[in-house]
Amino acid sequence: MDFRFTEEQEELRKEVHDFFSENLPSDFESRGSGPGTTMEQFKFWMELQKKAGAKGYLTPGWSKDSGGLGLTDMEQAVFMEESSYWGTSWPGTMGQRICGPPLHVFGTEEQKKRFLPGIAKGEAIWYQCFTEPDAGSDEANVSLRCVEEGDHYVLNGQKTFITSPGPADYLYTLARTQDIIPKHRGISLFLVDAHSPGISYGALPTLGIFTTEIFFDNVKVPKDRLLGELNRGFYHAMVTFEFERSTTGAAAGARRNLQELIEFCRQEKRNGQPLLKDPAVRDLLADRAIEVELSWLQGWFAAWHFSQRDKLGSPPPEAGGLHAKVVSADRAKQLIDAMGLYGQLRSGSKYSKYSGRAAQQWLSSRSTHPGGTIEVQKIVLAGRGLGLPRIPAKFNKEIRAAIEGVGV
Ligand SMILES: Cc1cc2nc3c(=O)[nH]c(=O)nc-3n(C[C@H](O)[C@H](O)[C@H](O)COP(=O)(O)OP(=O)(O)OC[C@H]3O[C@@H](n4cnc5c(N)ncnc54)[C@H](O)[C@@H]3O)c2cc1C
Repeated sequence: MDFRFTEEQEELRKEVHDFFSENLPSDFESRGSGPGTTMEQFKFWMELQKKAGAKGYLTPGWSKDSGGLGLTDMEQAVFMEESSYWGTSWPGTMGQRICGPPLHVFGTEEQKKRFLPGIAKGEAIWYQCFTEPDAGSDEANVSLRCVEEGDHYVLNGQKTFITSPGPADYLYTLARTQDIIPKHRGISLFLVDAHSPGISYGALPTLGIFTTEIFFDNVKVPKDRLLGELNRGFYHAMVTFEFERSTTGAAAGARRNLQELIEFCRQEKRNGQPLLKDPAVRDLLADRAIEVELSWLQGWFAAWHFSQRDKLGSPPPEAGGLHAKVVSADRAKQLIDAMGLYGQLRSGSKYSKYSGRAAQQWLSSRSTHPGGTIEVQKIVLAGRGLGLPRIPAKFNKEIRAAIEGVGV
């Protein structure tokens, strides 16, 4: 396949390129927000986020009224590719990519006016609050209780493992509004003020990123904070996942990481020779280059298909995110092996090389839960991508018994 970008698309790419090259320090490394992210880094990203937001760069596909640039699908893909290349770590990503898009679809005019500009301007931080101690992959099991009382709702219960890239302003929260079988028909989605009385937070730093547990103790939520329809929250959550799992910028970030790794291998010497001359390291770099290329083509195919959806129908589910999760642990191990013992050192050590990124990648690669586990993403691909039949619910009992039988 041979394709080119139009002159206007190239200009747009240059505009984004110029913004980041002017605003990021020249020695900036695209490390992402690992658990070591400091308050200083957070403040840096918040400031830059607001600058980008003032230009409509955080939500380029949204209309100008909502604080975006009104770009077409393909223009957005160009934009995402260039901005992801720089390894941006926006604290407001959850709002921009996960909670904001469904707000466009299901929100009332009043909700859109109230919430979208804060996300687009980079001022508000949203958390996506779905997971609970007994509801992860099985979203239908949500039990955070919500009852109506006069002109508001009252929430009681707990959320856990919620990605928290900074202090939250709003919580995009699934709660049980009706006890009904099937369970997924009794769940609703709420836009909750993160500072409401009765909400408390506890830190849960994971191998990859910082997460939080959240407790709701008689939290009052005004009635106009229900998103979409009462008891249809499960379906709204599934639409939210569609937005969460699309990854057009992934290849660009991986390309930059690869370039930085090649540069490191060029400079770093072992037994008097640059690492780049070591056959095992060359093997690793070649594997990575192939993967970046495949992921790039996959991302552009998805973006193009999406832009042609009126003619071609909805695009097949995106496999790039799943692929990245599956190979990331192997890639991190290869990198640690290639670097010898220095690959084991964390970024805090004065002896660490490549800024401790090998150890960081290894830790992050173990954390494959966000956005659905590998098994759950395979189920989605099997059903929606390959059209395979679901296992009939009548076998659930036998499957559970078999799992318990082997002590899982
Ligand atoms: C770093 C991190 C960030 C996160 N951020 C957020 C966030 O921002 N918001 C949020 O709401 N949640 C978040 N989560 C939670 C995440 O979404 C859940 O961990 C995930 O949905 C899985 O749920 P669980 O951990 O309860 O595992 P379970 O659902 O209990 O699953 C346990 C194991 O069983 C497997 N399994 C489950 N069902 C099936 C099935 N039908 N077939 C085959 N295997 C199955 C799973 O793959 C998994 O390996 C985060 C988690 C982590 C680790």
